[in-house]
Parts: sequence; C-alpha cells; structure tokens
Amino acid sequence: MSYQHQYTDGTRIDLPMGKVVCVGRNYAEHARELNNPVPTEPLLFIKPATAVVPIGEELSLIQGRGPVHYETEIALLIGQPLSGDVTDAQATAAIAGVGLALDLTLRELQDQLKAKAHPWERAKCFDGACPLSPFVPADEAGELNALALQLDINGVRRQQGSAAEMITPILALVRHIATQFTLLPGDVVITGTPAGVGVLNTGDLLQLSIPGKLQITTRIAG
Ligand code: ZN
Repeated sequence: MSYQHQYTDGTRIDLPMGKVVCVGRNYAEHARELNNPVPTEPLLFIKPATAVVPIGEELSLIQGRGPVHYETEIALLIGQPLSGDVTDAQATAAIAGVGLALDLTLRELQDQLKAKAHPWERAKCFDGACPLSPFVPADEAGELNALALQLDINGVRRQQGSAAEMITPILALVRHIATQFTLLPGDVVITGTPAGVGVLNTGDLLQLSIPGKLQITTRIAG
C-alpha cells in the first residue's frame, strides 16, 4: 500500500517519506525481557522508506519468513534538516508531528542474525516492516517527555509506557541521531518500545494509542 505522511485530521503533509531512524532498547524493562544488556549509548538502526506502510483498517503481514512480532513506538516526523551538534530548541523546532509506529520484527530471524553478529536488516527492513499512523501536529502534542503509549490486542493491554521512562529521552535522542546521520524533512524517528512485545496472529485486533492524542485500530489480515 502506498504511503503518504498525513495529519490525524486527514490533511496531507507535503513531505516525502525518507528514512526511519530507529533506536533499540530505549526502555530498560524491554531490554531485560529479551535478555539484552541495557546500552550505554543509543543503539541505532535505519529502516528504508520501502518498509513504511500506513496503519489502515487492515495490516498484512509478511508471509513465510517466520513469526512477526510487534513493537509499539512513539514516532516523530522530522520537518526540518538536522545535522551535527544541535540544541534542544533546534531539535524541538524540527519535530513536525508525533505519531505511532509498529517496528515489526522477524524475531526468530533477528535472534539468528544477532547470534552471528550480522546486521538486523533482514529481520526489520522488509517491505511492510514499519506501519505508521497519521501524525498529531507537534504544537498539539503537548510535552514530549509526558507522551504515553499503549497497545491493546483483542481487548487485552499488552504494552504501555511513557516517554518519561526512556533511557534516552526524545530530545536527547534526536540530538544524538543528528550527530550520527543527517535528518531530512520527511524522515521519521521511532523511539523504542516498552516491555510486552510479542507475536502477531491473523485476525488480531490492535488498538494503539497515545492517550488523549491519537487512537488507531487495525486488524491483522488473513
Ligand atoms: Zn523497536
């Protein structure tokens, strides 16, 4: 399904879909649930634009490559270039919107790749690996470090967290990323997942939310 950035009111955002910069293990409890060490600096990786699909009424999972796991994450739409050492004010000004992403992961394949110290792209960068919601305009999203997120599957709460629990908080994360890669308008930063990750199954009903700001419902297609 083709993807175009949009706001929650359906307004098209006139920016291209760029890269998705992702951070692993940004919530200590999630790092522990996968028996990973808590990192001392952000663990970064990138999903290509071809991984992004809109979170529509239905979500189709990649077939034949093993179990697909969900990771619910706060997503930041970048609206201005950011590169090198930038201030909190510059990082804030560059965030155009706040939304939700699913960092879909072929977990068994990722475990095999990790065991061989290989890159994770095969497990995290396939087409459809990054469903994205519409974005709440940044000036309506409130305090970034107070953003909460939650995921219910079939009516059961599976994940909940708050940006306040992030090991590297949102602005510090964006500033750090800018020292490593240039961020361009249309890029997206996804900020890590809280504990509670697990497998997706055909027919699952997913309700993702940033309480009070954004609510998305989708079903896993058969
Ligand atoms: Zn993730």
